[in-house]
Amino acid sequence: MENGISELKKKLCYTSVHIAAEMPEDIRDAEEFCEDYKEFLDLSKTERETVATAEQIAQEAGFVPFDRSGKYKAGQKVYFVNREKSLILVTFGKKPLAEGVRFVIAHGDCPRLDLKASPVYEKDGTAFLKTHYYGGIRKYQWTTVPLSLHGVVILKNGKKVSVCIGEKDTDPRFVISDLLPHLSMEQNERKLSEGVKGEELNIVFGNIPFGDEDTKDPVKLCVLNILYDRYGITEKDLLTAELEAVPAVKACDIGLDRSMIGGYGQDDRSCVFASVSAQVMLKKPEHTAVTVIADKEEIGSCGNTGMESLFLYDFMQDLCETQNAKVRDVYRNSICLSADVGGAFDPTFRSAFEKNNSAFLGHGPVIQKYTGARGKSGASDASAETFAGIVSVLEENGVIWQTGELGKVDGGGGGTVAKYMANMDVDTIDIGVPVLSMHAPFEVTSKLDVYHTHKAVKAFLES
Ligand code: MN
Ligand code: MN
Repeated sequence: MENGISELKKKLCYTSVHIAAEMPEDIRDAEEFCEDYKEFLDLSKTERETVATAEQIAQEAGFVPFDRSGKYKAGQKVYFVNREKSLILVTFGKKPLAEGVRFVIAHGDCPRLDLKASPVYEKDGTAFLKTHYYGGIRKYQWTTVPLSLHGVVILKNGKKVSVCIGEKDTDPRFVISDLLPHLSMEQNERKLSEGVKGEELNIVFGNIPFGDEDTKDPVKLCVLNILYDRYGITEKDLLTAELEAVPAVKACDIGLDRSMIGGYGQDDRSCVFASVSAQVMLKKPEHTAVTVIADKEEIGSCGNTGMESLFLYDFMQDLCETQNAKVRDVYRNSICLSADVGGAFDPTFRSAFEKNNSAFLGHGPVIQKYTGARGKSGASDASAETFAGIVSVLEENGVIWQTGELGKVDGGGGGTVAKYMANMDVDTIDIGVPVLSMHAPFEVTSKLDVYHTHKAVKAFLES
């Protein structure tokens, strides 16, 4: 009888499992895979750097720029870069485009601190940079964290200067200050959401005065002088520049068992790496495989590099012209994985989650039928057919997966690029790596999850 009941339980009940319990042989493979992943994270601190790193990986794998007038055969590989901020990788499949493609879309932008147009100022003997945060951040987390400065400045003569200060060991870093506990009694009374306010996210930039006693703002003059000496940048050039402050931390192993990875930008560069590494391994897939690194997801997928723009649609039109296919046939017959991270269950803050419907670190990529907030608002809500179809592909290929919502009902919520692809008449579903401390300067993922997300994407692109 005992036996019969446990057999029955096994047959009827479902609980998600840890990959290490089910497939211990994958621990070693995941560790090896994540050595490359950590390197990718360190090279890809901004959306531009993410696209550049992925482009290089693709070129090394034989991808060449897409030619509209070209004729392509199964197994050929092309790419398209949109304004240095989004990237499309294509491996042509055996079937004609009209039978649909396999899309995987991840985003290369991450929460960060952008510099305002006129960022440099001096106050009481210290030079600072003014910031405007990008994406959803908990502002108090970004103080007292070493920061680096990345971006692009166009000089008056038209020359484009790439800036990256704070990543090399010998580089200086930057930082946002916070009050010492001895003097924080007044600040401690603020709500946590206002513990540090947007206009208090000011980056410490310099402290040595330059000039004589009549010089106004001598410390500001000193840092501007260094900027000019090194890059030829004047204060006016900063008005039109794109400069981003990001955590100057390197990705590393977390945990005594080295089971996890800590690093900045894992939402969504974990899925970018899982997807790009899968795409470059393809030989001659059944359907044409299209991997996209999108931009601007963190602020609503807007702009001409985000998924709300026509850049992917226009590219697909061009692709269709090489086979005289109709783009509407392609979209209608396609399937899309919106490869974006999910929030991992945090045992320290369990009240934010509903445990039965949460994703756990190490239990594999989390597949979400819907995202959104307040009654699924803003979700594309994949069909049962789409969900089950994806699951069968993953299970045939030894992928451990789980499902889970982002927190409890009405606890908050969030969206992904899924709805923009669904709007194009494509069956779309969300899948991604569960993340602890998502959107923090230092996010945590499980190596096994990153590896199985890669396995999932690869199996899907080959299906
Ligand atoms: Mn994301
Ligand atoms: Mn995000």
